[in-house]
Amino acid sequence: MNLTKTETLMAAATRTAGPVSAAADSVVDAVVVGAGFGGLYTLYRLRQLGFSVRAFERGQDVGGVWYWNRYPGARCDVESMQYSFSFDEALQQEWRWGERFAPQPEILAYARHVADRFDLRRHIAFGAGVTALHYEDASALWHVQTDAGEQLKARFCIMATGCLSTARMPAIAGLDSFAGKSYHTGHWPHEGVDFAGQRVGVIGTGSSGIQAIPMLAQQAKELVVFQRTPNFSIPARNVPMDDAYERSWKDNYAALRQRARDDTTSGTVYEKSTCKAHEVDPASRQREYERRWGTGGVNFMHSFNDLMLDAKSNITAADFVRDQIRATVRTPEVAALLTPKDHPIGSKRICVDTDYFATYNRDNVTLVDVRQDAIECITPTGVQTKSTHYALDSIVFATGYDAMTGSLLKIDIRGRAGEPLSQAWEAGPRSYLGLMVAGFPNLFTVTGPGSPSVLANMIFAIEQHVDWIAECLRVLREKGAHSIEAQSEAQDQWVAHVNEVASRTLFPQANSWYVGANIPGKPRVFMPYAGGVVPYRRKCEEVAANGYEGFQLGSLNTTTHE
Ligand code: FAD
Ligand code: NAP
Repeated sequence: MNLTKTETLMAAATRTAGPVSAAADSVVDAVVVGAGFGGLYTLYRLRQLGFSVRAFERGQDVGGVWYWNRYPGARCDVESMQYSFSFDEALQQEWRWGERFAPQPEILAYARHVADRFDLRRHIAFGAGVTALHYEDASALWHVQTDAGEQLKARFCIMATGCLSTARMPAIAGLDSFAGKSYHTGHWPHEGVDFAGQRVGVIGTGSSGIQAIPMLAQQAKELVVFQRTPNFSIPARNVPMDDAYERSWKDNYAALRQRARDDTTSGTVYEKSTCKAHEVDPASRQREYERRWGTGGVNFMHSFNDLMLDAKSNITAADFVRDQIRATVRTPEVAALLTPKDHPIGSKRICVDTDYFATYNRDNVTLVDVRQDAIECITPTGVQTKSTHYALDSIVFATGYDAMTGSLLKIDIRGRAGEPLSQAWEAGPRSYLGLMVAGFPNLFTVTGPGSPSVLANMIFAIEQHVDWIAECLRVLREKGAHSIEAQSEAQDQWVAHVNEVASRTLFPQANSWYVGANIPGKPRVFMPYAGGVVPYRRKCEEVAANGYEGFQLGSLNTTTHE
């Protein structure tokens, strides 16, 4: 097969080393796909319960997103004291975060520490992408195939493949003709890139672009940003970790993590507001926005409790941010281009930045509005828009992901009667609780579509899902059941509920990756569950307490397992 240059770029970082090999007929209790935070915690929990488990990871190390995304400026936007595991008290006490929002190398080091501390690596085959998962009804076993040539069977498959792990390159003419270097933020070279003295182009101004652009502007001789849609962004106000702040978390971790579970919408403790935006007078509202803008981060979006529910309230927050952009960017025409107008604030994932808007005051930065001056093609020497050719040495694609479903649908997953997942999800993803799909017994999705996932602190969401799955497997073993499957009716009701809840919010109003709008031809469905992590967890617990209501449990007459 001849790979195009683009495919080679995307594949380069995934190239494999020798995997662990096993006999084709080997059988394990569970196969875990992916070794990001989701895969690591799944391994930990299942092994703790005495299940035999193997994990497969495309990359050469643990960390998932934080293994792949090494672009300059990459860091979390949920505070590190909260963007971290809560399952082990000693772990959360001993690990020391260096900054309020940890940079990528630190988060990757944390993931490695977790893998080593709990001795998880020996269960993981690195450089091994799972290519096919086929369910065999008679034995209630999944047949697993990897691109490293391994085959095995598993009773359960736990898909920890990530919501943002299939990077997307746009279909721009001439992409492969570029003679310089191209990079995707989600497949960044491990050795880093030195942009000194270069003319660099960036395509994309979502969270990744917004984090990378200020750093690239400092490194490059010239930076040209190709923007299609301006985004709302809140300053991070990132600082080195304050000892007293760290102490306040560590001394109260149990209570604060409990609060995240019981009294938040996203599993992150923010300053909660108890009033709506229009319940206060304009001057008080302005003061509240200024205060939260001053302290930084996503806390801004919690200024009032109806910002994602009421369009008029939302406008007050959006207008405040638009004013900040105009106050920061010196050239009015550039400020106007950077001002988002076509979606409610927060309806696309809110961005968090360091000096993003101020970067456009630099002499070496040019903003190109590709809505007015569309990119026509990439040439061997740069980017050609309708009006201008921009000569470039390197192009950075910050063009996002085939989110939530991309990594699952890349695998040839076939459920009962050989039905492909791609067929079951032809009109968009359908699941029961974002955990299982009707027709695909014993296959679980961690933070799957239909669960809060990307609307939540993802490590929080991962822990909740994995705890539920692990307990489910323990109960099945106790009952002597060999299979569990979502029932179609329960799934239909859940999907209807997910849609109904989303329709009460402002989220569906944006052309976001939440609805698949960034992938041409992708069915337009609001994928995450917008009802909040507390009602969601209660529903999951209730379902389990009622004997896995909405799921069908099955047993084999003879055990083919052991
Ligand atoms: P991932 O970290 O994506 O890991 C999935 C792994 O599965 C990957 O390593 C992938 O290689 C592997 N894989 C996929 N398919 C296969 C296959 N077929 N075979 C073998 N292996 C496979 N969330 C937050 O809550 N807060 C943040 O601040 C935040 N920042 C982010 C910043 C960036 C740049 C990105 C891209 C995402 C961010 N996220 C954030 C979301 C992030 O996805 C989650 O926080 C979290 O890292 C997801 O962990 P995961 O294990 O579920 O998935
Ligand atoms: P993204 O939000 O999907 O942004 C992709 C950008 O590329 C958009 O600006 C998009 O424009 C642009 N684009 C795509 N195709 C284009 C084309 N053909 N021409 C011009 N522009 C094009 O992707 P992302 O920035 O990688 O972020 C994805 C998600 O990852 C985030 O929403 C967040 O959940 C997570 N993330 C978090 C952080 C963090 O702060 N912790 C950092 C990075 C990523 P349009 O908007 O017009 O489509």
